[in-house]
Amino acid sequence: MSFAASAVIHRDHLRHNLGVVRAARPGARVMAMVKANAYGHGLVEVARALSGADSLAVARPEEAEALRAAGVDTDIVLLEGVFDAPGMATADALGCELVVHTPEQIALLAAHRADARFTVWLKVDSGMNRLGFPVAALNDAERALRDLPQVAELRLMSHYASADAGDGEQLAEQRKRLASRLARFEGAVSLANSPAALRAEALGDDAPPASDWIRPGVALYGVSPFAGVDAESLGLKPVMDFETRLIAVRDLVAGDRVGYGGRYTAKGPMRLGIAAAGYGDGYPRRMPDGTPVLVDGQGASIAGRVSMDMLGIDVTQVPNAHVGSTVRLWGAGLPAETVAQACDTIAYELVTRVSERVTRIYL
Ligand SMILES: *Cc1c(COP(=O)(O)O)cnc(C)c1O
Repeated sequence: MSFAASAVIHRDHLRHNLGVVRAARPGARVMAMVKANAYGHGLVEVARALSGADSLAVARPEEAEALRAAGVDTDIVLLEGVFDAPGMATADALGCELVVHTPEQIALLAAHRADARFTVWLKVDSGMNRLGFPVAALNDAERALRDLPQVAELRLMSHYASADAGDGEQLAEQRKRLASRLARFEGAVSLANSPAALRAEALGDDAPPASDWIRPGVALYGVSPFAGVDAESLGLKPVMDFETRLIAVRDLVAGDRVGYGGRYTAKGPMRLGIAAAGYGDGYPRRMPDGTPVLVDGQGASIAGRVSMDMLGIDVTQVPNAHVGSTVRLWGAGLPAETVAQACDTIAYELVTRVSERVTRIYL
């Protein structure tokens, strides 16, 4: 292993997690979310490892292009659809399934070559107010799409805003809004993201309808979508170990200050390790002192402001820490969820922002 930061990606854990999600919703088909570089894990490698998924979903046509160029032939869904005629041509050439969520997209489809045949996911907004036709506009949109020769198969998609929330209040509202309309829809339906798919297991709540297709993202990467419920208890295994090494170890005395702005001050004699990772690698600059890390498997904590390429670690409690010691920033033994809490974000953001210069090592 080099002294630079690396992200070790456990492909067997990806496959294991896919199995966990499948087991939670027997009979449902799985549209695996690989958008945003597979949540930072590496688009193409993850797509290949998830060849057992029924389809893959991305946010941008460029991501679909990269998958096809790499020879991935699994069905691909464009989660936001396309926005102009060249985008439509690309989607057609790549054989993508389209989400349609605006009247403009229906018009684009209608203007496309009449002998094209798309699987179209009609997106309905059940209360998140992000993408989709309002329930009241759904009939018209559905009729328009069913009339188009370019639509080979019409399916329905909606997204829950709060499936991870303990009280289930907004979830119940969205379900109510959808219920009667879904009963009248002829075709496959997809509703559940990771938290909705795993809700019964995690919260002992009743499971919201997942319908024919589930759309897990974060759970596939071994991250719990629920605050306060760890991934391990859901049977999930973390896919990414974000690691680096110590490149210096020094002794400090009381009053010594560490890093830019001197944010951390040594309270007494201490050992400080300098690790080769920083915000340039995607480890957030705003991480506070005391954020946990593992040094050669033992607990230690951040000391001083994170720099671009380096960060300081109080290794006083790790007497054997030395230049070359392995530093795990998150992964096995230190869930990204725990680290995310320290800086007031979610593990989704941490793993997705691991930067391009970080070598992904696929095991
Ligand atoms: C990203 C995304 C998902 C996956 O969400 P997770 O919480 O990561 O499981 C599902 N559906 C849509 C439309 C998404 O954009």
